[in-house]
Amino acid sequence: MKSIEELIQGHLRTLEAYTPGVQPTGKGWIKLNTNELPFSPPDSVQQAIQEELGLLARYPNPRSEQLREVLADFHGFKLNQVIVGNGSDDLLNLLARSFGGAGRKTLETFPSYSLYPVITAIAGGTIHSIEFNENFELPIEALLSAGADLLFLTCPNAPTGIRFPQSDLNRLASEHEGILVIDEAYAEFSGESAMKLVHQHENVVITRTFSKAYGLAGLRVGYAIASAAVISVLDRVRDSYNVNRLSQAGAVAAVKSRGFYDACILEICETRERVRETLAELGWKIYPSKANFLFGAPVNSSGAGGPEIASSLFKHLEDHRILVRYFPKHPLTASYLRISIGSNSEMDQFLEEVRTWTRSA
Ligand code: PMP
Repeated sequence: MKSIEELIQGHLRTLEAYTPGVQPTGKGWIKLNTNELPFSPPDSVQQAIQEELGLLARYPNPRSEQLREVLADFHGFKLNQVIVGNGSDDLLNLLARSFGGAGRKTLETFPSYSLYPVITAIAGGTIHSIEFNENFELPIEALLSAGADLLFLTCPNAPTGIRFPQSDLNRLASEHEGILVIDEAYAEFSGESAMKLVHQHENVVITRTFSKAYGLAGLRVGYAIASAAVISVLDRVRDSYNVNRLSQAGAVAAVKSRGFYDACILEICETRERVRETLAELGWKIYPSKANFLFGAPVNSSGAGGPEIASSLFKHLEDHRILVRYFPKHPLTASYLRISIGSNSEMDQFLEEVRTWTRSA
C-alpha cells in the first residue's frame, strides 16, 4: 500500500490546477479579462431569484426540470435531450469523466479552453493537443486522422474568437468516431450554431452557458444538448443536486427574457466591431471575432509587435486598472492579448490607454 505522502505527492506531480482569470476584489477596475457581459440582469431575473430566497431550507429540483423544459422548448429539442449543470464547466467535466477516463483518448486543439487538459487528467484519461497553424485555422485532417474517444472543440474558438466553417463541423460530426463536444460558450455572439447537428448525429454534444450572453457568470449555470442516450449517461454521473435553487429560477427567467439579451448581444457585437476597426487602424494584427472578445497583437509606435510589446501593453493596462488576458507561455499566443468587450464607455477608456501607451512605446 502507498503511504499518504506518496499518494498526495503523486497527485501534486500529475494534476495541474486550472487557473481562472483574475477576479479583483477592489473597486474601480475595468474588467475585460473573463468575457463577462457588462450589464446587470433585468428585473425579471432578479425578481425570480428573490422569490426563491424564502425557500432555501428546501433542496432544489434535482433534475432542474423547469429549466430543462424551457431550454428544450427554446431550442426545439426533446426534454430528454437537455441537461443542466453548475456552469458549463460542470458539463465539460461530466463529459470528461463519462467518455474520457482511464484508457481513453481525448483530443483538443491548441490554443483553446485550457480547462480540457485539466479535467481529462482528473478523469484519468490522456489528452492530445493538435496545434492550430499561425492563422488559427481548424486542423481538420489532423483531428480526423488522430481519432479519439472524445474531442473537445471550442466554436467560436477561445481565445481567438474565430468560428470554424460549418462544412468542417459537418465533416467532423460525420467522420469523427467518438463523442464530439462543440463548446458553444460564445455562440450567441456569432448568430450561428452547430446545434442542428444533434438532430442527425448521436455523438454530437453542444455545450452552452448562462455566463456569457446571459450575463449570469455569478449564478453558475450551463447546459448541454445531445442525443437522449448521451444525456442519460451524463445524468447518471452528475451530482444529485448540481444546480441550486436560485440558479435554476434565475436561468428560467433569463430564457423567458430573451428580448433583453438579444439587445445586449447586438450592442456588444457593434462595440466589438468598432473596437476592432480602431485597433486595426493602429496597426494591430487582429482576427475577425464571432465572440464577445477580440484577439489581437499590439504594435508599438514604430509598428513592431511581439511578446515583449504585448507584455508591455498588458502591464500598462494593469497599472491603469484595466484587466485583459495575456497568455505568455506559448509562442502561438505570446504576441497577443485577449480583450473582452465591455460597455461603450469602458471600451473608450481602454482605447484611450492603448493610445497613450502607443505614443510612448
Ligand atoms: N467554455 C469556454 C470556451 C469558456 O471560455 C468558458 C468560460 N471560461 C467556459 C466554457 C465555462 O463557462 P461556465 O462554466 O461559466 O459556464
